[in-house]
Amino acid sequence: MAELPPVESPTVSAVYGALVHARRDEDRGYLGMSQFGTECDRALWYGWRKAYDPEALDGRRIRLFETGHLEESRLIADLERAGMIVSANDWRTGRQFAVWSLGGHLRGHLDGKVERVPDAPRTTHVLECKTHNDKSFRELLKDGVAKSKPGHFAQMQFYMHFTSLTRALYVAVNKNDDQLYAERVRYDAAAALQLVARAERIVRAERPPAKLHADPSAREAYACGWCPARKVCHEGAWARVNCRTCLHATPVVDEGDAGRWHCARYDLNLTPDEQRRGCPSHRYVPDLVPGEQLDVDEEGETISYRLADGSLWTDGAGAAGWRP
Ligand code: SF4
Repeated sequence: MAELPPVESPTVSAVYGALVHARRDEDRGYLGMSQFGTECDRALWYGWRKAYDPEALDGRRIRLFETGHLEESRLIADLERAGMIVSANDWRTGRQFAVWSLGGHLRGHLDGKVERVPDAPRTTHVLECKTHNDKSFRELLKDGVAKSKPGHFAQMQFYMHFTSLTRALYVAVNKNDDQLYAERVRYDAAAALQLVARAERIVRAERPPAKLHADPSAREAYACGWCPARKVCHEGAWARVNCRTCLHATPVVDEGDAGRWHCARYDLNLTPDEQRRGCPSHRYVPDLVPGEQLDVDEEGETISYRLADGSLWTDGAGAAGWRP
């Protein structure tokens, strides 16, 4: 006989509820150097273009993320106690060391820089701290970071590339038993340049890159199974209405770090708030419409489509942001 699920204590519910209430939505406007663990360019493009709704986190998962952040400071304190010198913040800004490229559309934040690492006391290292569950930690022990955590490896390659440091110190902790792991990672110029080129392809792509898997139910398509873009990518869901899903908007790739977006329809640079809101002239990037493009009326500023169910739909004919 099936068992009833356990009833959550009112205290726990109150704590989780308060965490959800207090959480400020992290609205990352850039392509993060920590996101390159996925092989799928399309998933990164959808995320950066804010094509799908962000995942709503429950109190338990918010707390889990906080645990990861708290553990970072603890690991840094451990390294310092052992005689290493850690700079967690950039003295010029008082904030985390930031690195960027592609006009600020690609960005990353270091956990710090560390000196007097016992195996190489004269070399300054990029510092990267991570927490792992037991299974992930065992894989790390067995295979090292490059093989078991390619996303973390990529993140460090980006950071070394943009700080001109040639070594990184990867420090990991097993959340189950507090076992520690440390590995020095060497800068790999070829790997870093490939990553930068990949980021540039994604930032400059005017339409979603190719699907990693045509059939998300295929055995090898496990990445699609947990991909937050799956509904938009494979299931015909509508993308969100905002400037980044609009064909009038283009990311500006210049020498600055502002991550600017320009609207060709009104010839202006869009503020983050404006980007979030979109406007009545929003017209979908055609590949984001779950249908086939039929016609463009340039004077009337409309685009018509045949949708998957055979119905006709004209982008621009209804109210702002209207869709079937
Ligand atoms: S669902 Fe699959 S193919 Fe589509 S974006 Fe995600 S990983 Fe890529």
